[in-house]
Order: sequence, then structure tokens, then C-alpha cells
Amino acid sequence: MAEKFIFVTGGVCSSLGKGIAAASLGTLLEAHGYKVSMIKIDPYINVDAGTMSPFQHGEVFVTDDGAETDLDLGNYSRFTNAKLSGGNSITTGQIYQEVIRKERKGEYLGKCVQVIPHITDEICQRIYQASAEAEIAIVEVGGTVGDIESIPFLEGCRQIILRKGHANAMTVHLTLVPEVGGELKTKLTQHAVKESLAIGLQPDILLCRSPEPLDSSTKRKIAHFTNVCENAVISAHNEPSHIYRIPLNYRAERLDRLVVEHLGLEVTPLDLSAWEELDRNYRQAGLSLDIGMVGKYIDLPDTYKSIDEALIHAGLSEKLRINIRKIDAEQLEKGEVDPDELFLGISGLLVPGGFGNRGVEGMIHAVHYARRNGLPFFGICLGMQVMVIEFARHVLGIAEANSTEFVENCREPVISLLEEQGRIDILGGSMRLGLSTMELEPTGKFARAYGATEAKEVHRHRYEVNNAYLERLESAGLTISARYSSQNLVEGCEWQGHPFGLGTQAHPEFHSQPVGAHPLFRAFIQAGAEYAGVRQISVR
Ligand code: GLN
Repeated sequence: MAEKFIFVTGGVCSSLGKGIAAASLGTLLEAHGYKVSMIKIDPYINVDAGTMSPFQHGEVFVTDDGAETDLDLGNYSRFTNAKLSGGNSITTGQIYQEVIRKERKGEYLGKCVQVIPHITDEICQRIYQASAEAEIAIVEVGGTVGDIESIPFLEGCRQIILRKGHANAMTVHLTLVPEVGGELKTKLTQHAVKESLAIGLQPDILLCRSPEPLDSSTKRKIAHFTNVCENAVISAHNEPSHIYRIPLNYRAERLDRLVVEHLGLEVTPLDLSAWEELDRNYRQAGLSLDIGMVGKYIDLPDTYKSIDEALIHAGLSEKLRINIRKIDAEQLEKGEVDPDELFLGISGLLVPGGFGNRGVEGMIHAVHYARRNGLPFFGICLGMQVMVIEFARHVLGIAEANSTEFVENCREPVISLLEEQGRIDILGGSMRLGLSTMELEPTGKFARAYGATEAKEVHRHRYEVNNAYLERLESAGLTISARYSSQNLVEGCEWQGHPFGLGTQAHPEFHSQPVGAHPLFRAFIQAGAEYAGVRQISVR
């Protein structure tokens, strides 16, 4: 179990950026050389995020061990190197499922099973387990203090602070300080802290989200009313440039020092050089590249969060700013727009993952356009499947080529479930989740991008390329350049004779970091830059 605990809670309202705040604190503590564990508590009743529509909580982030989790785990994975697995994502559903399982097995020895102590004990146990290998556990409690759903979790936090002692466990509370009539208003924060005190949590540090940096008199006022030291009232003002500056902003406010000193840790040197370099790259990036993303949830900002970020990381590593143009696949499907107009100025097209047939024909149009016009294309999961369908239809002339996900009793199932391919012997028809290793064709674009002949990526899909069509696809110019050989599965394909057309069955976006852009996204952005003539970069 970790020795030190930091609970990150939120006040006033949601969407203040608690995930990024917790993750940035993780960045700072790692930069001091400490080993952190990042834990997200989601007070909803769902056991995990896997069954939730993107309309609810945005993207589902998948960990290496195949857990379907909240997108904040994606923030943790981008800002820190903390190991993330299913145990790092705790929900009310999981807690109750386990407590009820134990009750049914008689493990409570006839006791009346109650929220306190049984639910709260289970919560504390899970936090301890998830932080077993770390020195410091950073636990973000989803929702806003005062929500009915989060009360048992906050009570669990209070108990851990009591057990571990105040010198070993602390609360960082993110709150809002809005501007009204040209003045920063502190009343909301005063009330938020009162809510927190009512459930026994005295914030040790306040992160104050505000439109502009907090002046010292506002800080002093907040300190007076909240019983928080003035130097622990931190300005978490809006950052107009990019989110990866947040750790640098927090350092400027001495957040790392406050935490390290409060927890009685040694004040080791802080190395944020990689983040400083990233920020320099952002500032030096003079040119921007337009990338089109053709999907069906384009109105929601968080649906393709990890892909958006992976594109930005790749751009930063090339000193380019990426402007992502979200394109509605259904609009393309209905033929309401002229693709030449729609894709004007775009230097690369990406089709992300997805489920269900809505918008798929529009995605096929987009892939067709990219293939015919030499426009760099990157297909991810569903995006790769659509790439195979398009190729089968328009190059092999199989007009009815489709996936059995979209057409029942499809006559030309180039994509189908393994049992439909008569291959129930291997992985079965359920969702393929988590990490698997792919072997890369040494002369292909995958191997060139990765600089290796093997790569491990996360998966989340049910359907697979139908091997019955492989020979025909390959001989017509769709090269299968990544495979999961032991299971005889296609992992990636590429267009021959095209500057850059790559599809992967995996989700490489989950492994991209701002200080370590993913090689496939980098290769895509390099190809985009070349297409745009921004500069002559040869795609290695
Ligand atoms: N719907 C497809 C499948 O299940 C693709 C899934 C995805 O893109 N994540 O295979």
C-alpha cells in the first residue's frame, strides 16, 4: 500500500478539469522522482464504462489489461507513467457487486450489511490495492462534493486520512472562481468548501479555476473564509495555449513544493525538461495542418479524446499545430456535400473506431476519396475495417462487400465475427479487449514507423477481417503488414502505391503521450505535412 495519499475532489460544478488537475499533480510528483499511482473513482452505478454510450461520458479508455474505463484514465496515461489497470478505475457498481457477492456467500457472518462500514471498507480496500506498488496514491473522486452518489466515497477518503494521519494524507479541492462584472468572485468557493467540511474533509490545498490568474487579495480572501493557508490557494487559471502547460503553471504556483512538504517527503530536484521542451515546440510551431476526422459523434468534444490528443502530440513532435476538422459521416453518406469542397485544405483523413452502422457508408466515401486522391489516410479499428470494405468494393469489384455488423446475412462478409468465419476454436465472439502483440512485415510502413518488427497495442472490437478474402485483397494491392500470427488475425493493412494509407485494428491512440508521440500518428502527420507541402519530410 502507498504510504501517502492525495484525494482530489471537486466543488461548485463539473467540467472544471479535475482529471487534468490530478494528472498534472502526478506529472509534478513523478518529475520529483516519486512513484505515483493514479486512481479514478466514478460514483455511477455502472460496473464499468464499457456499456455506456459516448453521449454519456465521452470516450471509453481501455487499459492494457482490457478494462473499459473512464476517459480520465487517458489523462493519467498522457501526463504520467503510472501503471494503469482495471483496479485504477473504481465505480459504485463494482463496490456493490463485490459487497453483495460477499453477503450472498455469508462472508459477513450474519451481520447487517451497511454503507458504513461494509461499503466504505470495500472502497478503502480497493484504494489500497490499486496503490500497492506506489509511494504516493493520487485518488480523484468524480462528481462534485455534495452529490448524493459520491458520499460513501468521500467518507472512505475521510477514513483513510484519519487512519493514516494528516501528515500522510491530504485533500486537494478544485473549485471555480468566476469573474462577474470584472471582479473575481469567491463566494462559490466559500460554499463549496463548507460542503466539503460538512462531510469531514478540510481541503489542504485549493486549486482555483478562474478566467485569469488570481491576485493576492483574492487569494487572501479565499484563505480567510476556507481555513486554507494563503500560500495553498493556487491559481488554476485558464491556459489559452495547450493543456500540457498545466504542470508548468502549477509549478510556478509551487504546488509540488506544498504537496511534498505537507506529506513530509524529501524535496528532491524537479525535472520538467521534457515538458518545457514540449511547450517550446508548441511556441515554435509556426504552421498548422488540417486533419479531417470522419466520425459519427462529431458534436461531442470528448468522444475521440485520445485520438485528438495523439494527433496533437504527433504535431508537437513535428513542431506543427494540428487543426482537427470533425466531419459528420452521415452528411457524407447522404451525399449532401461535394467531397472536393468538404476536404479542401485537408492534409490527412482519419476514420476512428465506432460501433453500429450509422454513418458507415459516409466513412466508406471518405476512404475512397483518400485512396483515389493520394490523400494520407489513417484508419483506426472500425476505420481499418471500412478501409477493407472500400477496397473490396472498388478494387476487387465485390459490390456487396460489407461487415456482418452492418448487414445481417451479408453475402460478401469481408469483415465478420470469428464464429461466422467458422473459427470458434480461437478467440470466440466476444469483445477482444486489451493488449496483444502484432508482428510487423519488415518492409511495411508499420515496421518502418515503429522501428521494430513487433508492437503491442490495446484492442476493443468484436469483428475481424475475414481471412477467406485475404489472398484476393493482397494480390490487388492491400498489403497485410501487421498480423497476430498465433491467432491468424489481421492487425494492420496498407495501400500499395499510395503515399500513406494505413489501417490498424488496434487503438494506438491509448499509448500516445505528449512527451512520446505515437510512431503511427507521427508517420501519419509527417505524410500529411508532405502532402501539404509544408516541408519535404520523407516518411522513413
Ligand atoms: N465495431 C467494430 C468491431 O466491433 C469496431 C470497433 C471499434 O472501432 N472499436 O469490431
